[in-house]
Amino acid sequence: MTEPVRRLRSYVDGIAWPALPSRHGAAIQSLLFQLDQTQWWPEQRLVERQLAQLQALLEHAYQTVPYHRMRLGAAGFRPGGSLTEADWRALPLLTRRDVQNAGKALASLKLPPEYAPVTESQTSGSTGQPVKVIATQLDALMWDALTIREHLWHRRDFSARLAVIRANAPQPQGESRVSMQRDWGPPAAALFETGPAAAMSFAVDVAAQVEWLMRHGPEYLLTYPSNLMALVRHTAARGERPPRLREVRTIGETVTPELRAACRQAWQVPIVDAYSSQEFGYLALQCPESGLYHAMSENVLVELLAADGRRCAPGESGRVVVTALHNFAMPLIRYDLDDCAEAGGPCPCGRGLPTIARVLGRTRNMLRLPDGTQRWPLVGFARYRELAPIRQYQFVQRSREEIEARFVADRPLTGEEEARLSQVIQTALGHPFRLTFSYFDGEIPRGPGGKFEEFVSMIEIGT
Ligand SMILES: [Zn+2]
Repeated sequence: MTEPVRRLRSYVDGIAWPALPSRHGAAIQSLLFQLDQTQWWPEQRLVERQLAQLQALLEHAYQTVPYHRMRLGAAGFRPGGSLTEADWRALPLLTRRDVQNAGKALASLKLPPEYAPVTESQTSGSTGQPVKVIATQLDALMWDALTIREHLWHRRDFSARLAVIRANAPQPQGESRVSMQRDWGPPAAALFETGPAAAMSFAVDVAAQVEWLMRHGPEYLLTYPSNLMALVRHTAARGERPPRLREVRTIGETVTPELRAACRQAWQVPIVDAYSSQEFGYLALQCPESGLYHAMSENVLVELLAADGRRCAPGESGRVVVTALHNFAMPLIRYDLDDCAEAGGPCPCGRGLPTIARVLGRTRNMLRLPDGTQRWPLVGFARYRELAPIRQYQFVQRSREEIEARFVADRPLTGEEEARLSQVIQTALGHPFRLTFSYFDGEIPRGPGGKFEEFVSMIEIGT
């Protein structure tokens, strides 16, 4: 594949060449300069640098985060040492439930000023247990640099048109329901001259999304796997494909081999996937050569652990445990994502970044409305904890009119709390579905294969 011609964007009036970037662009460039080299390091060298960074993170956590002081102290950690792999493996895992229970005790009491400002977000991950995560502007900077790394790995043509169908797309008023932008937005546009972009909310029904893709013909599409599957099915039934499309980028859920095959067959384009989470940003990016996922070792430590706590060998699957190397606002140390993934072997591309062969257990079903249209289920989870002491939730769509809402709560909810929750859920779903409430002790049981899905549809495909 040939490298597309790229024009760097200059941020200084009167200077067209060589381009001078903005301050933020310059910071991204300096990270990219390093990432370009570290990706080729042997794995052992990456581990050494990670351990040095983790030592700094643990010292900060021990000294400024009450929850970690207690926990790390109990595990035998003392500042001033030099961390070994064995020390690391002796640290306990941090579960979502731990994070819910710890609350503010997980936040640093003394964040160094260069990390500020911080941002807060609510996440449900793939387990339906909402937690609040605080991250810093340095995490955002790493996110930007890794986004550009992903573009460069896959030799994207920045002059092309980009379409994005996702959750946080702006919702423009009026007919179009599409927000048109003159460039790809940050971070690509911070560094490069880019073509235009368009964004649409995935809550728009599938037929309208397809109609729009056909009319606008973007070269790149970014969306969620379950939404993509619905788009591919819809067009394949009519023998259509979006004109000019070169590649689909996916985030947020598991890409199955079936989806890759369906997209290839119906649209004649490949899928390039990124494995990310709200808590950490990118965890692993798909290799441009082998299709394996390379862990983003410069930003996160990704551990795949077998049931007995051992590191998974290539071909073996286990739980995904992640540590953010630079989140000093709310250190997440050996955080159990409740995802399951299969370890990969050394990559034929020569990069030393460890690999994941495939990510399992992150799927969601689409919501079916009474008129037969499908969309991504938005359930309004971010407001639940304001209304009632809810620990975990799950929705099961039983028919086009009826949805079962399952909860684990600290105590039985009152009729008034149920009524308020119903209102939030129905508004988020976009239809006054008949809701039935059921309650579970401890944890909502997992589905076949140990997978937990926040939203389960019991409606047969094609009905
Ligand atoms: Zn590779």
